[in-house]
Amino acid sequence: MNRIDLLEAAVAHSYNAIVITDANLEDDGPHIEYCNPAFCEMTGYALAELIGRSPRILQGPDTDPQVLARLRACLRSNTPFQGSAINYRKDGTPYHVEWNISPVRGADGVVTHFVSVQQDISTRLEAERDRRLLANALNVANDPILITDRAARIVFVNQAFERLTGYDAADALGQTPAILRSGEHDSGFYEGLWSALERGEGFRATFTNRRKNGELFHVEQSIAAVRDDQQRITHYVSIATDISEYVQRQRRLHELAHRDKLTGLLNRRAGEAELQLRYAEACVDGTVFALIIGDIDHFKQINDRHGHPVGDRVLVRTARLLSERFRRDDAVIRWGGEEFMVILPNTRIAVARQLADRIREGMRTLGDDDAGAVSMSLGVGQWQQDESIAGLIHRVDKALYSAKALGRDRVVVADGDDEDENRARADEV
Ligand code: GH3
Ligand code: MG
Ligand code: MG
Repeated sequence: MNRIDLLEAAVAHSYNAIVITDANLEDDGPHIEYCNPAFCEMTGYALAELIGRSPRILQGPDTDPQVLARLRACLRSNTPFQGSAINYRKDGTPYHVEWNISPVRGADGVVTHFVSVQQDISTRLEAERDRRLLANALNVANDPILITDRAARIVFVNQAFERLTGYDAADALGQTPAILRSGEHDSGFYEGLWSALERGEGFRATFTNRRKNGELFHVEQSIAAVRDDQQRITHYVSIATDISEYVQRQRRLHELAHRDKLTGLLNRRAGEAELQLRYAEACVDGTVFALIIGDIDHFKQINDRHGHPVGDRVLVRTARLLSERFRRDDAVIRWGGEEFMVILPNTRIAVARQLADRIREGMRTLGDDDAGAVSMSLGVGQWQQDESIAGLIHRVDKALYSAKALGRDRVVVADGDDEDENRARADEV
């Protein structure tokens, strides 16, 4: 194949539409002298319908006049042109074309032709429009959306995410969602998340996260893997619903249901649940727990002599004393009117007894100017193998009654626990 044949074959088979016109800008010019099959296909015209005509036949109502003005200026000044505009096929349907035109000079340097290479970019523009639409939709969605790559690096956050977390896109992009970790979930939670995602399953859970300013918030979050055509995971998308208000309301309700209003201690119902928990633990692995029940002595007299508000104040101070004396794991409960219970996990009778005695001593220094000296009688017991909760409470209650009967302001160990106490002491020696 000679050079000319080669060039002609190349142009004829080009994927791009190619049209060559003369350089005559007068008399309806320029005129099409050549176009390749791709050009005919793009425009819908047959070759014979195009030869000798001006490319202006492709223009129509939505062809941008500014682009055309620039095009004419380029042609007149023999400089290359590049632009895009709407053109029309023979059947009148519009398409978006991007094209460039270069002047072709003869041996004497005079421009004899223009060669124009064109491409229908309608599909590309539509795809871009779709992409922009999706990005805008994600961005304005009311729920926070986060997209990470496979390695969990954040590649997108929407405006709702920025508002909720306080991290704007500039803060978040390139980081991992670990920036939101609150420390409220154990490592097993995140392991569960990752193993679900790696198995290709979605993950949905309530997350407690931390804002940029340190505040906690709660979201119902669902995370899904995004896959490519080969089904390989490329990204993860997370959509969250802010349920902070709901969680706070639930917590308030929980507090209301489980806390005593006057003293802020656990109420009897919560105390019963706590006993069930310790009992179940004890049955499963034999861990011992102890119980103290204390009742304020002659409390009725305080009310009668100084009035109900003073009585209330004594109750509040007693509750504060109890709360201050016990560990975090111990449950301090307002068991009845002026009756308090403390559940002591992993505690033997000897220690429980000492603690009860300190409470008894502490009551003396409760120091209420109006009420004067206040004392408490206490019963104390340790859960015994095969004993029911009711059985344990009964024994400790009996010890408390003994303390009252013996003159009040004292601690009595429940029947059956003395031996234990002696054994524990013997162990210590
Ligand atoms: P004892 O030494 O035998 O325990 O005598 P007591 O007077 O402490 O016992 P009693 O059971 O006779 O009286 C308890 C009183 O506690 C009766 C009740 O009106 C009062 N009380 C119960 N709940 C409250 C409360 O929330 N506030 C006040 N101020 N008094 C309460
Ligand atoms: Mg009392
Ligand atoms: Mg009482």
